[in-house]
Amino acid sequence: MRQEDLVRLLESRGVTPTEQRLEVGKVVLRQPQHLSADEILAEVNREQARVSKATVYNTLKLFVERGLVREINVDPTRMIYDSTTRPHHHFYNSDSGRLYDIEPGAVEISAMPRLPDGTVEDGVEVIIRIRNRP
Ligand SMILES: [Zn+2]
Repeated sequence: MRQEDLVRLLESRGVTPTEQRLEVGKVVLRQPQHLSADEILAEVNREQARVSKATVYNTLKLFVERGLVREINVDPTRMIYDSTTRPHHHFYNSDSGRLYDIEPGAVEISAMPRLPDGTVEDGVEVIIRIRNRP
């Protein structure tokens, strides 16, 4: 993604494009992908230390709030950030810790439980847990 497109994208979500947010955005939003916060931190600072851990975490939190990335909570010790924000499902390989996208139409829910009183459905996301064949 070109710098000016990234600036425009951040601004369109009400995020002031500071230099550090642009560094994080360049890594997180460059392609459809799933990265942990530590992977993002390492990538942002790969050539030289530019952005502190706290800033990376705060920026990711802001990006999530503004709908630029989604958090996927598959492993309580490791939050994953997904640059694809439209609804979709995932395979999660517990051996590698990697997530793979599944197109929304590839999963069909044939029955749904009755919703608790006073609630409405807010989306269904399926995570199919897999492991490597022994
Ligand atoms: Zn995904």
